[in-house]
Parts: sequence; C-alpha cells; structure tokens
Amino acid sequence: MEKKSNNDGLRVVLFPLPLQGCISPMLQLAKILHSKGFSITVIHTRFNAPKASSHPLFNFLQIEDGLSETEINEDPTSNVMSLLAQINRNAESPFLDCLQKLLLQSQERITCLIDDCGWLFTQSVSESLNLPRMVLCTFKATFLNAYPIIPLLRTKGYLPVSDSEAEDSVLEFPPLQKRDLLRVVGEDEEELGPFLRVTVETTMRSSGLIFMSCEELEKDSLSIANEIFKVPIFAVGPFHGYFSASSSSLFAQDETCVPWLDNQEDKSVIYVSLGSVVNISESEFLEIAYGLNNSKQPFLWVVRPGLVRGAEWIELLTEELVNSLGEKGKIVKWAPQQDVLAHRAIGGFLTHNGWNSTLESICEGVPMICLPGGWDQMLNSRFVSDIWKVGIHLEGRIDRNEIEKAVKMLMVESEGETIRERMNVLKDEIARSVKHGGSSSRSIETLANHILSL
Ligand code: UDP
Repeated sequence: MEKKSNNDGLRVVLFPLPLQGCISPMLQLAKILHSKGFSITVIHTRFNAPKASSHPLFNFLQIEDGLSETEINEDPTSNVMSLLAQINRNAESPFLDCLQKLLLQSQERITCLIDDCGWLFTQSVSESLNLPRMVLCTFKATFLNAYPIIPLLRTKGYLPVSDSEAEDSVLEFPPLQKRDLLRVVGEDEEELGPFLRVTVETTMRSSGLIFMSCEELEKDSLSIANEIFKVPIFAVGPFHGYFSASSSSLFAQDETCVPWLDNQEDKSVIYVSLGSVVNISESEFLEIAYGLNNSKQPFLWVVRPGLVRGAEWIELLTEELVNSLGEKGKIVKWAPQQDVLAHRAIGGFLTHNGWNSTLESICEGVPMICLPGGWDQMLNSRFVSDIWKVGIHLEGRIDRNEIEKAVKMLMVESEGETIRERMNVLKDEIARSVKHGGSSSRSIETLANHILSL
C-alpha cells in the first residue's frame, strides 16, 4: 500500500477487544492507517495481550483488566459473553487513566480513538476527554444493523421453533431462518439486552463507524447502517486484502502445515477450523473425526486446545482412529490460516463462519462447509450458503454421515464444481474492491481525510 507522509505528527489510539477475531482486524486497520502516515498507539488489556514485538512500528500500552490469574488461565472461551462483561466493568478506570496520561504526554496531536463496538464505556470516556471516538465493527454490517431489533425478537413468538417452521425466514432479520434464532438471542436476556442497547446508543454518539467489509459484499446493509446510526460509514475491508492477520496471532502457529500441503494435490485438501472461541462436545468432536476419516479426502484439521469441552486436546481419539486419520490428514493446534487458505492444495474450508474466517476464505476463493457455533456466525453462514451460494450448510448436523457427504459433495462432486465457480466470481469482485480505485480503497482515503478533519 502506498505510503503518504502528510499525516505525520498525528497519532491515532486504538483499543481492540481482547479476542483473536477482534485483535487481528484492529491491528490490520492500524497497519492501513500507518501506511497513510498516522502514528499508532494500541492500548490493550493484560488478558490476550497482542505481541508488541510483532509490530515494532506501533506503541503498545497495557492496562489492567481486573481478571485474576485463575480467570485468565482457565479456558476463557467457556463463557465469552460474561468474560467480556467483566472486563467491561473492570477496565474503565484504568483505560481513562491511560488515555488521560497519553493525551498529556504525547508529542503528536492525538486525532481520535478507534475502538471495538463491544466496548461499552469508551464513548463516555472519550467524551469526558473531548477526544473524538470512532467505532470498529469486526463483523458484517447486516448483523450490527440488527442490534436494535434482536432483543425484540424474543417477544415475536418465534421461539420455541417447531420442525415445520425451522426453515421459515425471520422477517425482521433476513436471511436468518427461525432455526438460527436461539443461537443469536441466547438464553440470557438480561445480559444481552442492555449490552446491545448500549452498543447502539454509544455508536450513534460516535464520530464514525468503520466496517471490515466492502460495498461489493453488502452495499444495502452499509446504507442501512448509515440510516440507523446516523454517523459517517467507512467500509474499508476486507483488511486481509491489504495486510495478513498472521502477525497478530495470539497462539503459536504450526509452521509444518505449509510443507505438508506442498505434498498434496491441487485443491484436494479440506481445511477444518472452528476459530478461536467455539467449543464442541466430546461426541461432536468424534463425529467430525469419523466424518473426515470416512470421506477419504485429505484434510488439515485445527484442534485448538480447549476446542473440545472436557478434553485437553485429541486424547479422545483411539489409536486406531489416529493411525487411520494420519494416513490422509494432519491435525494441528493452530495453523497459519491465511497461508493455508491461499495454498493451491486447499479445495474447501469446513468453518464456523466467524467473519474473519469467512472473509479470508472468500479472499482466497475457497468454498465452505458451514458449521456456525452462534451469534453472527449464524448470519454469515446463511449468506455463504443461501445468498452468495458459495458453500454447503450442515444445518447444525454434526454427524459423521452428514460431514462425509458434505465433504465429498464439495470436493469431488459436480455440485462442488458449481459452488467453486460461483466462489471464483465472488473472489474476483472482492479483489477489485481493494485495488487502487476500488470501493474499499477509496473508502480508506475518505477515512483518512475524515480522521484529519476531526
Ligand atoms: N486463525 C488462525 N489459525 C487457526 C484458526 C484461526 O490464524 O488455526 C485465525 C483466522 O485466520 C482468523 C481468526 O483466527 O483471522 C479467527 O477469527 P474469526 O472471526 O473467524 O473467528 P473467531 O475466532 O472470532 O470465532
């Protein structure tokens, strides 16, 4: 990306939510803004601190998050919502102190704060310091647009969903189906409702909303976001089109993946990963293992420690199954995902459809098998399977026969070929957006000018 120096002497402060799927986009955005001449300071919590050494051009400042060693060390993904609620309660005062000091001591003018829409206190803090705040949304605009109506969906009589209604659309929230709804609205109304309301209200008071998305993916949703939040909107993604996410990885990447892929045939390998937060049960884990094994297709499977509830790693697999799996595939704890998806040997991605993973797959033209865990993944997977038609939806069926069938359909059958062709068209459209003069590239210029004007 072309470097401009006209913004020298101006600093932007970034504050990511401490989750892999939020840290990577924030640091990618930091690189984009740095390439436009802005200096960068990243404030971060102690929990899931990004590796400062991987980003020598940025300043990093750590604040306390109030979590105990036990809370940090026990699997933090077991209840992400309550963990984030806790950090939101604890981090306000340390964040205010840190920002106040920075404003006093900085040699450069601090133009604005950019932080994740999941922070609930940052708008008030920035207002108290007279510092403009912009909001980064790390998921699809369509999902943020639904925040005002998600709490109301409980009272619409959609739940519980009978089998005959499962495939009906949720009229207020297309293309979501009724069967997706419970995993969006969740069980705990008291936690979710206030969180969504504060997010909407503080975003409306902000100085602008940045999306890791582009017009080619969701032009209408971006216009609707503008109507709902009434702030300037910038769709400057997919960030992966500019800078890789790999330097922001919180986990050690198994670098043996790529040499292993080098020995596989073109488009023969199915890559399997459910991201950094999703958990599955022991029986679901075994169903995936047998499904992959029975498909006879080569696979690269990320089994993150903590993925399987109650298990350390892959000790549930029998020796016989491990041997059989080892003949065709490779299991790792964490992969260099973007390099993997870009490899010529990858032909499909069995994914939980986190927004980063979905975009990375689209950017590399890899068709998907959708196994969403919850929240915005339910919506992303509907777009993949029902709107863009670049993937097969498992409809929550974590069953060895269904997985075997889907893998074969995507990797070897003619239906897979049709899906692959559609994916190539989508990939090309998105690639145009990040090229010079493309929609995303133009939005970056507008965003840089907007920050200058604050
Ligand atoms: N990722 C990775 N290696 C892995 C699995 C995931 O680098 O083995 C990265 C992936 O490239 C993506 C991020 O982790 O950038 C996951 O973000 P996403 O939004 O897809 O899902 P989340 O983890 O937030 O559920």
